[in-house]
Amino acid sequence: MSDFRPPASDIAFILEHVVGYNDLAALPGFEHADFETVVDLLTEAADFMAKVVAPTNRVGDTVGAVRNPDGTVTLPEEFRKAYNAYVEAGWGSIPFPEEFGGGGFPSTVGLALQEMVQSSNMAFALCPLLTQGAIDALLHYGSDEQKATYLPKMVSGEWTGTMHLTEPQAGSDVGALTTKAVPNGDGTYAITGQKIFITWGEHELAEQIVHLVLARTPGAPAGTRGISCFIVPKYLVNEDGSLGERNSVSCLSIEHKLGIHGSPTCVMEHAGATGYLIGEENMGMRIMFVMMNVARLSVGMQGVALGERAYQQALSYAKERRQGLAVGQEGVDSPIIDHPDVRRMLVTQRASIAAIRRMMLLNASYMDIASHHPDAETRQRAGEIVGLLTPICKSFGTDIGNEVTSSAIQVHGGMGFIEETGVAQHFRDVRIAAIYEGTNGIQAADLVGRKLGVRDGASVMEFIGEMRLILGELASHDDDFASISAELARQFDSLESATTWMLRTGIADPKAVLSGSSPYLRMWGLVVGGWLLARSAIAASTTGDAALAQDQLALARFYAEQILPQVSGLHGAATAGSRDLFSL
Ligand SMILES: Cc1cc2nc3c(=O)[nH]c(=O)nc-3n(C[C@H](O)[C@H](O)[C@H](O)COP(=O)(O)OP(=O)(O)OC[C@H]3O[C@@H](n4cnc5c(N)ncnc54)[C@H](O)[C@@H]3O)c2cc1C
Repeated sequence: MSDFRPPASDIAFILEHVVGYNDLAALPGFEHADFETVVDLLTEAADFMAKVVAPTNRVGDTVGAVRNPDGTVTLPEEFRKAYNAYVEAGWGSIPFPEEFGGGGFPSTVGLALQEMVQSSNMAFALCPLLTQGAIDALLHYGSDEQKATYLPKMVSGEWTGTMHLTEPQAGSDVGALTTKAVPNGDGTYAITGQKIFITWGEHELAEQIVHLVLARTPGAPAGTRGISCFIVPKYLVNEDGSLGERNSVSCLSIEHKLGIHGSPTCVMEHAGATGYLIGEENMGMRIMFVMMNVARLSVGMQGVALGERAYQQALSYAKERRQGLAVGQEGVDSPIIDHPDVRRMLVTQRASIAAIRRMMLLNASYMDIASHHPDAETRQRAGEIVGLLTPICKSFGTDIGNEVTSSAIQVHGGMGFIEETGVAQHFRDVRIAAIYEGTNGIQAADLVGRKLGVRDGASVMEFIGEMRLILGELASHDDDFASISAELARQFDSLESATTWMLRTGIADPKAVLSGSSPYLRMWGLVVGGWLLARSAIAASTTGDAALAQDQLALARFYAEQILPQVSGLHGAATAGSRDLFSL
C-alpha cells in the first residue's frame, strides 16, 4: 500500500491565489491567523495526519467498531491512541471561538484541516465532524449556561457530539419523526423514542457524548414546524461540571455496512432520557440547519478527501506496475503510467479533485465573509453564495468522490478489486457520502427549489455574471489559454440558458424542474470547477514559478477541453421535463 500525505501545498496555493486568504485574515477576529501562520499549521497538520491518523485507516476497516453485550462499543486500540494525540494537539479546536478554548481561525482553515483528517481516515474523522456540527448548533442557539457547560470540552475534543435526526420512517423527510419530549416540570424533558443510523452514537474514546436529539413536544404542529432540539448527554453533568449519573440513552446495535467500518453507526434508544431544550420549542429545524450547512460542506469534502487518497495510491501503483510495451518504447514492459489511457484516468482524477477542492474552500471563505465582514451588504451577498454553492459542493463533490475512487480501482486492474491492495476501501468508504447529510437528490431539489429563486433569480444570475468576468482576464493571456476561454464562454452560456429555463418553468411546472435537477446541479459543479481551475492557471502564471504555471495551465486546459464539454451535453437532460420519466 502506498504512503499517503495530505496535499498541503495545493491547499496553500488555493488559499493564497483562489480564495484570496489575505483578505480573510484581514477580517475582524482573524488578525492572528495570517497566511504564514496558516501555511505552517497546514504543513504540521499534514505531517501529523500522515504519521498518526493515516496508519489507522486499514485496521478501522478490517476490525471496525464492535458492540459488546453490555452495550459498550469498542474501537481498535489504534483509534484511541490517534484520538488522544489528535485532542492533545488541538486539531479539532482550530476553527472555534477562542472564548471556548478554540483557535479562532477562519472556517476555511478548519475545512482544509478537515480534508486532511478525512483522507487519512474517514471513519475516524466522522467523530470530530459530528462534534463540530453539535458545537455549531450550541454556539448559535445554546443558552449561556449550556455553552459554558458543554462547549469548552467539546471544542477541546474531550467530549464528542452526535446528531440524532433519523428514525425508520423519517429519513429524507425529517418532519415524519415521532420521538417524544415530555416536560418533566423542572425545565428538563423526558425523551423517548428510537433513532437509527447515528454516527459515533456510542464509543469509549471520549469520557462523554453530547447527543443533539430532534423530538416532538406534546401538541406540537405536524411536520418540520413541530420539531424541537434537545441536548441529551450520555452522562448527566453535575453543577460543578463533573460527570454524574448515566442518562437513559443507549446503543441497541450497530449496523454492518459497506464501508466506514471504523465509524460506529448506532441504533439508539432513548428511554425517558433527560433532555435539555436548545432555544425554544419548535425551533428544531432552524437549529439543525445550522449544523447541516456546515456538515454538508464537510461531507462534500469527504469526496475530495477520499478521491485524493485513492488518486495518490493509483498514481503510485501506475508508476510501479509494468505491463505491455507503451507506444514508442522498446525493451521490457513499460510502467502502466506510460499508457495513454491510464494517464487519462489519472489526469481526470487529479483535475476533478483539484476543481472541487477549489470550490469547497471558496465556499468556506464565503462562510467566513458572511459571518465576519463588517459590511452588512457584503455579508448578505456572501450568505447567498454559500446558499447556492453548498448543495453543489455536497452533491457534486461526493459524486466525483465516488467516480474518482472507482477510477482509482480501474488503474489497479484486477488488484484493485482485491481487498489487500487497500484501494477498494476508499471506494466503499466514500459511497455513503452521496447518501447521508441530505441525499444528493435532496441537494438538487434544494438547489432548484430554494436557491434559484433567491431575489427572483437575480442572485444566481449575478453569480454567473461574476464568473463570466474571467473571460476578460483570459483575453489578455496568450494562445495557450485560448481553448480555456472558448470553452468556458460556451459553457457559461449553456448554464445560463438552463438556469433561465429552470426559472421560467419553476412555478408553472415544478415536476419538470425537479426532473432535471440532478443533471442541472452537475452542470453547475462542472462550470464552477472549470472557472476556478482557470483562475488558478491565471494566478500561477504571475508567480514567477515556471513549473507551477505550466502545471496549473495544463490542468485547467485539460479540464476545459476534456471535462467541461459535458456541461452542454447535460443541458438536454436538465431541461427535458418530466414527460418520459413518468410515462415509463
Ligand atoms: C452510515 C450512515 C450514517 C448516518 N449518520 C447519521 C447520523 O449521524 N444522524 C442521523 O440523524 N442520520 C444519519 N444517517 C441517516 C441518513 O442521513 C439518511 O440515511 C439519509 O438522510 C436518507 O434517508 P433514508 O435512508 O431514509 O432514505 P430515503 O429518504 O428513504 O431515500 C431513498 C431515496 O429516495 C430519494 N428521495 C426521498 N425523498 C425524496 C424527495 N423528496 N425528493 C427526491 N428524492 C427523494 C432519496 O434521494 C434516495 O435516493 C446515516 C446513514 C448512514 C447509512
